[in-house]
Amino acid sequence: MANVRLEDIKRRFNNVTAIEDITFEIPDGEFWVLVGPSGCGKSTILRTIAGLETATSGKLYIGDRLVNNIPARQRDVAMVFQNYALYPHMSVAENIGFGLQMRKVDRKIIQERVMNVARSLSLDHLLDRKPKQLSGGQQQRVALGRAIAREPQVFLLDEPLSNLDAQLRDDTRAELKQLHQELGITTIYVTHDQVEAMTLADKIVVLNRGRIQQIGDPQTIYASPANQMVATFLGSPPMNILPVIYENNGFDVSGQLLTIPAVVKEKLQLRQGHSYDLGIRPEHIFINEPPTRQEANESQLIVEVKVVEPLGRETLIRAGLPGSAVVLNIQVGGDVRPRPGDRLSLQLDLNQLFVFD
Ligand code: ADP
Repeated sequence: MANVRLEDIKRRFNNVTAIEDITFEIPDGEFWVLVGPSGCGKSTILRTIAGLETATSGKLYIGDRLVNNIPARQRDVAMVFQNYALYPHMSVAENIGFGLQMRKVDRKIIQERVMNVARSLSLDHLLDRKPKQLSGGQQQRVALGRAIAREPQVFLLDEPLSNLDAQLRDDTRAELKQLHQELGITTIYVTHDQVEAMTLADKIVVLNRGRIQQIGDPQTIYASPANQMVATFLGSPPMNILPVIYENNGFDVSGQLLTIPAVVKEKLQLRQGHSYDLGIRPEHIFINEPPTRQEANESQLIVEVKVVEPLGRETLIRAGLPGSAVVLNIQVGGDVRPRPGDRLSLQLDLNQLFVFD
């Protein structure tokens, strides 16, 4: 096992800078997730650590060793891809043991280790099968098994669950987390899926356009996003963003005044006459009963329901501000079921507002 340190890594392809200013250190044994939209540079970072890509500049350390010029196979890392890449003519056991066989490990030891790995991944009853006789989830577990059997210092996983269907993806995600708790191998996991990032990570690195936006544990990033990109990327449904102007001690939200108490004004450092993007998460909006607009100093917004999505435990509501194109996502209890066309009076939790310039 080892820590992994990137110092000011940059990678350019011809004239295109894929990643730059990439600096972080993953302590030994932690599970870090690189997350961001497609094309933000996640795979390039992972492939650079693996040695499948060379950094244009910057330093990369695995443990105490500077590895910029060390070939991939000598870095003692194991990488798992989304398309499994199993050997079709080999059995499950041969696939899992392949890396060991290449290193001329004793046959007895290979057998033992393959058995242990297969057991921990619930593959022990499938050892004689060929990959095409396995489900997608089983194939992905074999690919993981092959990586684990090598006992690498670092695990690199590139969207390993994206080819699995929803239920299997959830199950395998939980298994991965358990596996990491058992093995404690330093793991770097790439995904565009914010749920995977939130649930798996000790630390999340949010990337956009080749640059780091924020590094932190999931709760901190969710509660204190560094900028609007991070705020809207993590969270499902995403944070609502409303274009507003701050004036008369409140926000003008498409013609409705949302009164803001002085303490909140101080906290958010609001300036009169200034335009902002106001952020509020769907779970921090509540429905007032009865739905009427009351005293002017109350912070309410009147909206018209457009779409209602009952999800059992909760209901998602999409509602529009009258006379504007702005649509709000609202997340309420499953027993709340307004109908399209209803007018609702909303209460926003003013302690949970974000403003972005
Ligand atoms: P992600 O994994 O987040 O989807 P990538 O790391 O694959 O992003 O790509 C980051 C950027 O680098 C993209 O703009 C992509 O087009 C570019 N890129 C990646 N690999 C190459 C390559 N081999 N040649 C040219 N451009 C590349």
